[in-house]
Amino acid sequence: MTVTEIAPTSAAALEDVLSAAHGAAAAWAQTPARVRAQALLAIADALDAAAEELIPLAQEETNLAPARLGGELKRTTFQLRLFAELLVDGGYLDARIDHADEAWPMGARPDIRRVLEPLGPVLVFAASNFPFAFSVLGGDSCSALAAGCPVVVKVHSGHPRLSAAVGRVATAALAAAGAPAGLLALIYGTQSGRDALLDPRIKAGAFTGSIPGGRALFDLANSRPDPIPFFGELGSVNPVFVMAEAAAARGAEIVDGFMASYTLGAGQFCTKPGILLVPAGSGMVQDLAAAARPAPALLLNERIQSGYVDALQELLEHPDVRPLGGTEDALAAPPAPSLAATTAAALLADPEALITECFGPAALVVAYENDGELLAVAEALDGQLTATIQGEDGDALAPELVRILAGKAGRVLWNQWPTGVSVTYAQQHGGPYPATTAPASTSVGTAGIARFLRPVAYQGLPAHLLPAALRDDNPLGIPQRVDGTLAL
Ligand code: NAP
Repeated sequence: MTVTEIAPTSAAALEDVLSAAHGAAAAWAQTPARVRAQALLAIADALDAAAEELIPLAQEETNLAPARLGGELKRTTFQLRLFAELLVDGGYLDARIDHADEAWPMGARPDIRRVLEPLGPVLVFAASNFPFAFSVLGGDSCSALAAGCPVVVKVHSGHPRLSAAVGRVATAALAAAGAPAGLLALIYGTQSGRDALLDPRIKAGAFTGSIPGGRALFDLANSRPDPIPFFGELGSVNPVFVMAEAAAARGAEIVDGFMASYTLGAGQFCTKPGILLVPAGSGMVQDLAAAARPAPALLLNERIQSGYVDALQELLEHPDVRPLGGTEDALAAPPAPSLAATTAAALLADPEALITECFGPAALVVAYENDGELLAVAEALDGQLTATIQGEDGDALAPELVRILAGKAGRVLWNQWPTGVSVTYAQQHGGPYPATTAPASTSVGTAGIARFLRPVAYQGLPAHLLPAALRDDNPLGIPQRVDGTLAL
């Protein structure tokens, strides 16, 4: 499937979108959270009802299989419903009330009350590889709308017709639910995304995609006279460390799990395990070379295909890298799943070239000689979305490795595989740069709402001027931290 050409949004149309988003901001921010929750539920129901129209469109534009797309749509509507629950609960507001206290140890304190409030219109750059879950009504849009922010979506050029259809279904559901006009709008074209990001009416950006693209947009957001937060989720190699005891105890099982994880969805997941460290001499390298691989599958679009071929070719041309097992057709379209091999010593000598993301069905197997090399590779990593340990209970090296990896990755896994990212309360999908441009946040899970909220403290205000969330009589019935104690 080629990237579909579509007319970019004109300057006049972009002005209308931004002006409408700006106009909707105050009304949506003041809409009670319970009513915003109803709107999210209405979108979820409408998307579920439109599945038969949306899934074939998604398949046509992305080459992804209907079963995968159906699961992704389910995840997307589940996510909208989970955020609706979050709004009803109200804990996300982090309401804090400190009453005035003459006896406060550092000197008398005034009455101060703090709550999280919506940032304003958010510009979402949709991802290519999740046409539902990280696109028009994906995690970024869902958390921004839940937070009380209008959303302008810069449609991904890989699935414009699906985006338009999702936008149409969601906009109709929002209108029927009584949401303000202009709350959700779509724009098309690379330049319109850049123009929107520079517009003073946009108050935050959210992005999932490549390191060069995300970095360019992060720099643009920061170049504004009034820089804004830019939540970019970029690249990651998601290393997996196989400890010596685990290799000896269940090497074959680990090989099976790894083969399934790195080839899932033709390797087009930001959480694909791209580097597997195995003990030299354990026999795992040979087992990996001999392992069965799934049939080639078409990648999302021509841009992803050519980016993948360029990255893999460069890796394979490195003097210290050799193909592992049959790599015939590894660079073809569709590409056959492939593996390459190197050593930890070579990786440590040239980490910039060898710790690199190949977005597609390829991974690098790295043989290490001893514990010191294993820890040195962990130390050499840059920021990651995930890092995984395959170990055995009682492993003496594991505590040190966990400590190092927690300093590098947003999510540390033990004896599991990183590819699945469940939408939950405790999920963390993020990590230090270049995994993201905002390591203190997550783009998956309910904690993602915090990206689009801003704390405001009210000092000395009478009750009738306070937001409802901060009143002593707690009319919303939400959790409040009163004088340091959480009242549920
Ligand atoms: P991309 O090239 O970074 O594009 C993502 C979005 O950002 C698109 O809407 C694109 O606009 C826009 N964009 C990119 N560079 C821009 C710039 N300099 N100025 C303005 N807008 C810009 O990502 P992709 O097309 O999805 O995939 C390319 C690569 O990204 C993959 O090969 C893979 O390495 C990586 N990727 C990572 C993840 C992840 O989850 N971390 C997910 C998907 C892809 P246009 O569409 O108009 O060009």
